[in-house]
Amino acid sequence: MPQVRTRMAPSPTGEYHIGGMRTLLYNYAFARKNNGKFILRIEDTDRERHVEGAAERLVRVIKDYGLNWDEGPEVGGPFEPYIQSQRLDIYKKHALDLINKGHAYYCFCTEERLEKMREEQRKTGLPTTKYDRQCLNLEKDDVEKRLNNGEPHVIRLKVPENEEIIVKDLILGEIKFNSQDIDDQVLLKSDGFPTYHLAVVVDDRLMEISHVLRGLEWLPSTPKHILLYKYFGWELPVYGHLPLLKEVGENKKLSKRMGSVSAQGFLEDGYLPEALLNFLMFLGWNPGTEKEIYSIEEFIQDFSLEKVQISDMASFDRMKLKWYNSYYIRNLSEDDFYNRLTEWSEKYNYDFKVNDYIRKYTKEYFLKVLKLIHERLQVFSDIKELTSYFFKDPVVNKDMLLEKSKDREAAKDILNSYINLYSEIIESDWNKENLDKRSHEVLLLKGFKTKEAFMTLRIALTGMEATPPLFDVLGLMKKEIVLKRLEDALSLVS
Ligand code: GLU
Repeated sequence: MPQVRTRMAPSPTGEYHIGGMRTLLYNYAFARKNNGKFILRIEDTDRERHVEGAAERLVRVIKDYGLNWDEGPEVGGPFEPYIQSQRLDIYKKHALDLINKGHAYYCFCTEERLEKMREEQRKTGLPTTKYDRQCLNLEKDDVEKRLNNGEPHVIRLKVPENEEIIVKDLILGEIKFNSQDIDDQVLLKSDGFPTYHLAVVVDDRLMEISHVLRGLEWLPSTPKHILLYKYFGWELPVYGHLPLLKEVGENKKLSKRMGSVSAQGFLEDGYLPEALLNFLMFLGWNPGTEKEIYSIEEFIQDFSLEKVQISDMASFDRMKLKWYNSYYIRNLSEDDFYNRLTEWSEKYNYDFKVNDYIRKYTKEYFLKVLKLIHERLQVFSDIKELTSYFFKDPVVNKDMLLEKSKDREAAKDILNSYINLYSEIIESDWNKENLDKRSHEVLLLKGFKTKEAFMTLRIALTGMEATPPLFDVLGLMKKEIVLKRLEDALSLVS
């Protein structure tokens, strides 16, 4: 087998999609597994959809996920440049080459004419519109004259009539297309920029790409690419189209209503790159075993295209992603947990900066809080909600408090009893074990029901029904804070 060379070729038209990261990961792993090269190429030839700064952001986010490339922006390589807008001459030369070979032609139709043509075609009920080839048979002299006059024009592919085009897909098998359904694709636009189709084929060839692994949305473009390879007289790369991502239970692509969809968005939410990658590995691939936790090295070892699932869509299970993230957070050492959280909060979260909290409290206190919630934190962005009561008084819901303690009298009795108890406990005895023991004694003495009493305390102290074990929380809080919050709750129900 010749050297494996895969590529990811994103267009900087917005934030990098999480699905792009999955596809990139598979290309990366396939190249690594086969001692090949992984290339990153920026496909920025669509000037209308170009978003300022998007190319820089996508380069950064790939690195933030811990991935890299052997050739491409920043690192260079033997086929520089890897940014398509810097390769315009190359595409032009190839478009002219096709004209000379009779497989492409100049088209001078104006946008107005084309729009009118499409409108008429739509009226006749055609499912799609197609260029009517008005410029296909222009006289050579006429073309020459119009070019010399500087008349705006494009170059179109001359798609053959009624020809079967077979895409041999490594994952999906053989897929047949008929050239009848293919438009005379514009290859070079009037602004001198190539379209995606011309540029992708030329670059994949010149950069010696052996395997084109990309999302299924590109499958309809593949027959056009196959024609181009044929007309250039080039050998085809191997194609593999990967399932698209969809929300669970829906047959639609990912939706912003359900949460983040960009690779960057998930980092901002507080997902760890290693958890994200592990999750992405399974969106279209499966080792066929029970093993779910994969490091990138293990993935490279086990990855093969034979195990890529043959289907249109792969379920993007956001709950499963949370599960992965909790797993990776839980498995961080205490130091790493602190460092990673700090790094994340400084980089992405404007609402919760570890350093601000440490300035107001002590690092020691902060670390103890972290230790308590370490197991419970699913994503870093939950940190504020999960720990706020350690740093400021909670808003206590009166109805919730009354409901948990049974009624107003019971609530008052519970709160009063524990205010009495806790005010008697001296600072040096203020620890989890002692608080636990003494609190249970009061429970017995007063005949309170465990659940009612401790839930009342929990809500009064934290405002929440679910927290780490009550006496862990109590032991960490200062005595005066505990007393103040219990008094506040008492006035609330009185
Ligand atoms: N520039 C295309 C994109 O934005 C590349 C598609 C392909 O991989 O051929 O995804």
